[in-house]
Amino acid sequence: MEKKQAKEVHDVKYFRELLEYWDAYMYALINEIYVGVGISLGLSEKEAYDLAKNKPGVLQKGFFSSIFNKFKSLFRHKVPKFRPKKGQFGDGSPMTEVQWDKFNAGIDNYWREYAHKVTENIAVKGFMLGRETTNFRKKKKPYKNKSLYQVSFDQYDGEMPSTLQEAYKNYDFDKSEKIVLNKSFSNVAMYVQETNSEIKEAIRQQVQTGITENKTPIQIASDLYWNVQKDEELVNKYSAESLKRNFHRIAQTELASVYEAGILAPHESEAMESLKDPAKAKYFVRLGGTCPWCRSKQGTLVRLIPASIVEDTKSESLRSMGIKDPNTDIAIWPGKNNVGIKKDNWLICCPAHPYNVATFGLIDIKDEWYNPKTKEVEERQVKQKFVPQDIDYTIGKEEKEYRKPTIVGENLVRYNDNIYEAVPAHEYNRKLEASRRDASLPIPVNESSPSYRRIFEAARGNK
Ligand SMILES: [Zn+2]
Repeated sequence: MEKKQAKEVHDVKYFRELLEYWDAYMYALINEIYVGVGISLGLSEKEAYDLAKNKPGVLQKGFFSSIFNKFKSLFRHKVPKFRPKKGQFGDGSPMTEVQWDKFNAGIDNYWREYAHKVTENIAVKGFMLGRETTNFRKKKKPYKNKSLYQVSFDQYDGEMPSTLQEAYKNYDFDKSEKIVLNKSFSNVAMYVQETNSEIKEAIRQQVQTGITENKTPIQIASDLYWNVQKDEELVNKYSAESLKRNFHRIAQTELASVYEAGILAPHESEAMESLKDPAKAKYFVRLGGTCPWCRSKQGTLVRLIPASIVEDTKSESLRSMGIKDPNTDIAIWPGKNNVGIKKDNWLICCPAHPYNVATFGLIDIKDEWYNPKTKEVEERQVKQKFVPQDIDYTIGKEEKEYRKPTIVGENLVRYNDNIYEAVPAHEYNRKLEASRRDASLPIPVNESSPSYRRIFEAARGNK
């Protein structure tokens, strides 16, 4: 079980509203799937919906409709009924694999049709909002209380794009921005797909247990929804309620990462040019965040580099990438994250952890400074000047030796203090997934990728 992370509230209204809609819509889908299962277990439609509404008081009557009404001019997603064929769980005998496959296929279809569509919409809007935020900040426009509706009508004539295609067709995206947005979307989609697997696992688990324990259909359905009587912390991951909570964590964290990608991506091509012409370097400062870790990072100056040049996503030292910068040694890039990294080793990124609301603010270090009193980037007054943190970034000779690619086992290489494992192409995705979840596993490297040559062939040369 994941440790409890304090929830944080984003300070920008249109961000909060986008999250509110996505959350409510996905809740409604999950709810609908559970209602469908309840009915299939033999409950009447009314009983199933009542059960879905009546427990811990979260879903008071009208919960969904009030949120959907609020956003009706912005979103047109429907929540259609989910109805497995009658009697799918009906006769009380354990279900066969074939029956489960059939049932799961029904959920897959429903999810593909509705959850993924809304997710694309949210990812596109989240990214566009990140771009707008940079513009608002640049023009010194107050923006934190702007609603999603206002942004949509002021900047997009009420038709904010809802698909990647619409966004690319109607708005200026350079190539590297498209790459970033595509990547962010597929990352979010992966989490949404995982929720689908959790739902299927949860239903199967509860139904099987219920059948084994001779529970009535109503009892099984009720366990499915809440099962919280003995479980007030909701540690039972198989109830609808804990699925929804998990989804909320994913939604807030992933929306923040798409939004931040939208803040950084427009500057990536200039960041690329800055590798040759340091005068073009793009700097940001880390703003906001409410936990002690984030507070200690407020005002940290970082430099944007293109994601395409990052070989080791767990190292953020500009120097280790061969970039000398007198102002900071910390590199950021779109998509930089702390997934699978222990807190002691967290990198400077936004979001840095679940529910994180910290953000990167563009800074022109010649004319602007970070004011620790207002916690904002401000125009420089004559006497204030940016004082870079006094940190010695030089890496000792011994450490330099240690950081070189070195063979440490069969198919294993240590490089920059990380362990890499060479894997065949067909195993790469699975291994990558596993290593994202468990930081103690080696980082997989596809044997047919350029990184393989860089890391493994270099290691053989260093022997
Ligand atoms: Zn924090």
